[in-house]
Amino acid sequence: MRDQEGAPTSEATSSYRLPKTTTPTRYDIRLEPDLVNFTFSGEETIAISVNQPTTEIVLNALELEIDSASVERAGASIPGRPELDAANERVKIHFDRRLEAGDCILQIKFRGILNDKLHGFYRSQYQDSAGKTHTVATTQFEATDARRAFPCWDEPELKARFRVTLVVDENLAAISNAGQQSERRLGHGKKEVVFKDTIPMSTYLVAFIVGEFEATTPVDAGGAPLRVVYVPGKAPLTPFAAQIGAFSLKFFADYYGLPYPGDKLDLIAIPDFASGAMENLGAITFRETALLVDEKTASRAELERVADVVSHENAHMWFGDLVTMRWWNGIWLNEAFATFMEMLAVDKWKPHWKRWESFGVSRAAAMAVDGLRSTRSIEFTVHSPDEARAMFDVLTYEKGAAVLRMLEQYMGAEEFRKGIALYLRKHRFANAETTDLWDALEESSSQPIRKLMDSWIFQQGFPIVAVEPAGDGRALKISQRRFYYLPDAAAPAQTWHVPLMLRVKTDRGVSTHKILLTEKETTFQAQGKIEWALVNEGGHGFYRATYAPPLLDALSRNLSELKPIERFGLVSDTWAATVAGLRPLSDFLKMARLFTQETDINVWRALLGAFSYLDMIASDVDRAALARTVRDVAGPAFKRLGWEPRPGEDELTRQLRGNLAGALGTLGDDAAVQSQARELYDEWEKNPAKSDRDIAPALVNILAYSGDAARYDAFLAKFKSPHTPQEEQRYLFALANFRDLSLLRRTMAMTLDGQVRTQNAPYLMHSLLLNTQCRYEAWDFIRKNWDEMTKKYPDSALPRMCEGVISLLDREPEVKAFFETHRVRLGTKIIDQHLERLSVAVAFRRREGANLGRLLAQE
Ligand SMILES: [Zn+2]
Repeated sequence: MRDQEGAPTSEATSSYRLPKTTTPTRYDIRLEPDLVNFTFSGEETIAISVNQPTTEIVLNALELEIDSASVERAGASIPGRPELDAANERVKIHFDRRLEAGDCILQIKFRGILNDKLHGFYRSQYQDSAGKTHTVATTQFEATDARRAFPCWDEPELKARFRVTLVVDENLAAISNAGQQSERRLGHGKKEVVFKDTIPMSTYLVAFIVGEFEATTPVDAGGAPLRVVYVPGKAPLTPFAAQIGAFSLKFFADYYGLPYPGDKLDLIAIPDFASGAMENLGAITFRETALLVDEKTASRAELERVADVVSHENAHMWFGDLVTMRWWNGIWLNEAFATFMEMLAVDKWKPHWKRWESFGVSRAAAMAVDGLRSTRSIEFTVHSPDEARAMFDVLTYEKGAAVLRMLEQYMGAEEFRKGIALYLRKHRFANAETTDLWDALEESSSQPIRKLMDSWIFQQGFPIVAVEPAGDGRALKISQRRFYYLPDAAAPAQTWHVPLMLRVKTDRGVSTHKILLTEKETTFQAQGKIEWALVNEGGHGFYRATYAPPLLDALSRNLSELKPIERFGLVSDTWAATVAGLRPLSDFLKMARLFTQETDINVWRALLGAFSYLDMIASDVDRAALARTVRDVAGPAFKRLGWEPRPGEDELTRQLRGNLAGALGTLGDDAAVQSQARELYDEWEKNPAKSDRDIAPALVNILAYSGDAARYDAFLAKFKSPHTPQEEQRYLFALANFRDLSLLRRTMAMTLDGQVRTQNAPYLMHSLLLNTQCRYEAWDFIRKNWDEMTKKYPDSALPRMCEGVISLLDREPEVKAFFETHRVRLGTKIIDQHLERLSVAVAFRRREGANLGRLLAQE
């Protein structure tokens, strides 16, 4: 359904919305968590406006006990009768006297639990080096879990100021959104910490964190003090995050033309955290791998992950926190924009990381979902909170960011920036709709932005742009149609406003052209005879291209004239067309052979991704031929690089060395690479600081792939006593990459026996489902333990775990039947997409599987 205004006016939505009879302006919240019994008690004084005379006040509350509620007005106290409505996650407070319109004070006393589901006010635990367990109390409120911590108007539009008071043990640190105002001892080993008032903000951004935390010395980040906060012992892992934190905060203040809206900024690493991070204003929480990192031993990719996430959250301080979506249908813009800004900031910080080029891989990941019949439009009407929670997917983040990047490149970066600054200035401290952003961009650029963007935001899918020679070889016919992995004859024809960036080589030279394709097709007239043509110059477009055979041949002959991101596009588009059955596999394999001299990491990621997909559909018999092809294609490139980094070599080339070695040692089953990897690993273990940090992840993978029980035990021990969060992650996931079934069964058991945190267990299961040696057994394990998994794992992680079902080619009907009767609360749509991806793989195998061995042997 299309809801241009995004306004929550329909009846279906309003049943989830609170009545506007009373609204809050300021919360004074006092909380006392009990870290031993996992409970908390609280009281709040809320300044409210009674907008219409009423005898009841309705607000959100969930898993809370309400001890008392009353209203203060003109010196008189009016007692209320609270009535909880668990099904609707609300509390209704009834009054015997009518409350007249005007301002008054609502007072509520309540109690709740510090749950272990990583949402609301929850507990997180860790062990110190002596094996002693410590407990932390922390919060995660987005989308609608503030109501588990304190009764509130839990809707983004109902902004208010918050003043938080925490009563905690004297030895603990207490953190909230704003800086500390005062602290005093209460006796009995307790202290009271009062924080300053926040700016007006939404409930989902409130945070309280209590535990034995330490913090770095504050650094100045454009006027605000910035600290990294962590559990004791991890101080050496903080400098990198502090650097990118300060850099990106200043970068954004400059880009947006507005100062940072908070009075301080803490970046806090939490031992148990369901997502990557959360943009609580002034108190951003992270899972440890996304914040704490050892610059000397982490790989470049691991460092990039920290830089990305820190920048993303900092970007939200303005876009999301200062200006907030009115309702959850706007969550896509919030996340798409922060993802876009994260790239911009990291690209500025480390230009040699070529962040926009590696974003091509994310863009392709979004297209892998958006090419399905079961995709969705980026923006759609959201009624229930569950629908909002299910929007945190690749279409919101990656497709959304890719479409914004396409717009930015089409408009011009400075015009785009001006529009964003205007939008933020206009709506600061308030809420906005997507349409307000298009207004601001149109105002600043005088271009018809809305029309262009509507075709991308409200339509499902994306176009494949076909290019054919026309006329006498001096023209091109360019047409668009929707790209589908599984053809859909019944689908209506769709068109997009496609900003085409065309580069053409004729006998008179190379020229570039900006064309807005709005119709089904158009003809491009060149000045001379066309030698080759490329329609997605710079690779920023969210569309795929397909070329008529003579044009494809011409491009293939002129690979050196293409930029790396354009070669990436050529490989990625050709592979997608192969999986969709638009081209035979033989064409792709022929093309792959042209890339043995390729030096760009992202082109290799596209090529190796395709081989990995072939591994998923290959029979055990054909797998040897596939391994040989991988060695033929990737071997020469790896040989050229060698095992040892060269002086002056750039960081991406070092990472490429690791990727190629990893592929050869696993997919390529290269015995020489495996044996060399074992030797290097032994050296690396002796002296990690002196070894190549970018090859280390590949070594761990190769050793797992070719490893025995002794190796398994060694990696398990490494996982249990890691030096860094990245090392813990690396060894944990390596346990899913062994090939011996008895070892993989041990990993399966670990997902439920408490050895693996619930923040990681579903992802470990995801890896097991994708391991061709144990995928069907992993599936049986999931079916058997489904109820326990749904109870234990964070709700948001289940749909991600289930993505692994795309590899269950022999069990398609059974997998589909299972999900008919086992619905995933936060992911019906996402599960449908996984199941369709499984069907795509089955159809691909039906077409090409029987010939696969022959095709690979021929090559
Ligand atoms: Zn975000």
